[in-house]
Amino acid sequence: MPLRATKRGADRTRLERDCDVLVCGASFAGLAVARELAGCGARVLVIDRYELGERQTSACAMPTAWLAALDLMDSWRQGFDRLVVHTPFRTASWQLPWSFSTFDYRELCALLWAQASSPELEFETATVTGRAGPTVQTDRGELRAPLIVDALGWRRVLSNDSPIQPPKARLSRGLEVHPPGQGEDLELWIDAGYVRAGYSWSFPAGDELRVGVGSFWPSHHVKEPTVRLARDLDLPAVGYQGNWIPHQLRRAVEDEVFFAGDSAGHCLPLTAEGIRTALYFGLACGRELRSVLEGNSSREQALQRYGAFSDSHARKYRLLLGAQRLAGQLTPTRTLTAAVRALESRRLAAWIFRHYLAIAPPSFVAGRSALQRRVLAAASA
Ligand SMILES: Cc1cc2nc3c(=O)[nH]c(=O)nc-3n(C[C@H](O)[C@H](O)[C@H](O)COP(=O)(O)OP(=O)(O)OC[C@H]3O[C@@H](n4cnc5c(N)ncnc54)[C@H](O)[C@@H]3O)c2cc1C
Repeated sequence: MPLRATKRGADRTRLERDCDVLVCGASFAGLAVARELAGCGARVLVIDRYELGERQTSACAMPTAWLAALDLMDSWRQGFDRLVVHTPFRTASWQLPWSFSTFDYRELCALLWAQASSPELEFETATVTGRAGPTVQTDRGELRAPLIVDALGWRRVLSNDSPIQPPKARLSRGLEVHPPGQGEDLELWIDAGYVRAGYSWSFPAGDELRVGVGSFWPSHHVKEPTVRLARDLDLPAVGYQGNWIPHQLRRAVEDEVFFAGDSAGHCLPLTAEGIRTALYFGLACGRELRSVLEGNSSREQALQRYGAFSDSHARKYRLLLGAQRLAGQLTPTRTLTAAVRALESRRLAAWIFRHYLAIAPPSFVAGRSALQRRVLAAASA
């Protein structure tokens, strides 16, 4: 696992290469793709503008079952079997039928990379600037591959569609600070005092807290409320991390390129949970690429099947987007508080959170899900 800092200045030598698979982006989605290609014998090149694990891209909380299924528990920091939800009128406790965990980003990336590792797999730091057909342009030179993955996040750099331009584009935004400290609960605030449409959070992760604010409306600023929430919790606003978050499914294939994770809008609307889904669609994409490399399908078949698999989730994404819009309109009134209170019912919480987990279930790690098999059979017919 490369531990050196990202190449800079004179060390940033030319990088011109032909390879079998080019994975652009080495965070959750890109590393999940690479993991599925381990030992396939193909020349796989993974690139990112930063060194592996160098820049944390989230608060790093996800269902524990996903961490366990991917054998990533060595990066585990803290587990939670309930969510504590604050509204201006009430604090509620939602008992989860499964647990969430926070983890260390750098360690998780290193573990995924180790799982992907094979003699033909390489990593390079390079900033992707664009694409012309099978040629990807970077600040270090041109890279060519018949199989290309865009796992570059919300900007969707390898798309030839018109560029996504916040704050006008359909994106949410999130910002958090990472002060040292400890906490017992995964806490959420649904409180217009911090953000008009969205939510705020405090996620403990061992000896640090990840405290932030997410807005469903891209034009609403999140820095001031993030600083204020930290201050309200008696924490220093240090260690900033923030980004735009797509909240709408986009095309998962375009020309000859596969898109996975935020680049395909795979982050879930309403909750902005995008790690599990980046891993899920990354695995699905990696499996399709592998089937091409092993001679079991053509690139066109793989593109079609992966696109169909992503599309088969559209209804669930629409449902969550509808809920996000509704939540954005419910001012912090008693209706919202009543909804928060209703989820204190263990039965209701269990029902909702089980369905929610099933959108991208941890069982997918072990092999194709029944849904994927159905979609693939229909797409190949
Ligand atoms: C503040 C905040 C907190 C969040 N917390 C959570 C959470 O706790 N749980 C959760 O499930 N989701 C969370 N999310 C959402 C989650 O971070 C994303 O959905 C997830 O990171 C998507 O993974 P990805 O691999 O698709 O993209 P990313 O994690 O964004 O990775 C993209 C990669 O591409 C690289 N890259 C980008 N552009 C270029 C370029 N031009 N050239 C080369 N490399 C490039 C980046 O360096 C990065 O490594 C949070 C989001 C934000 C903003």
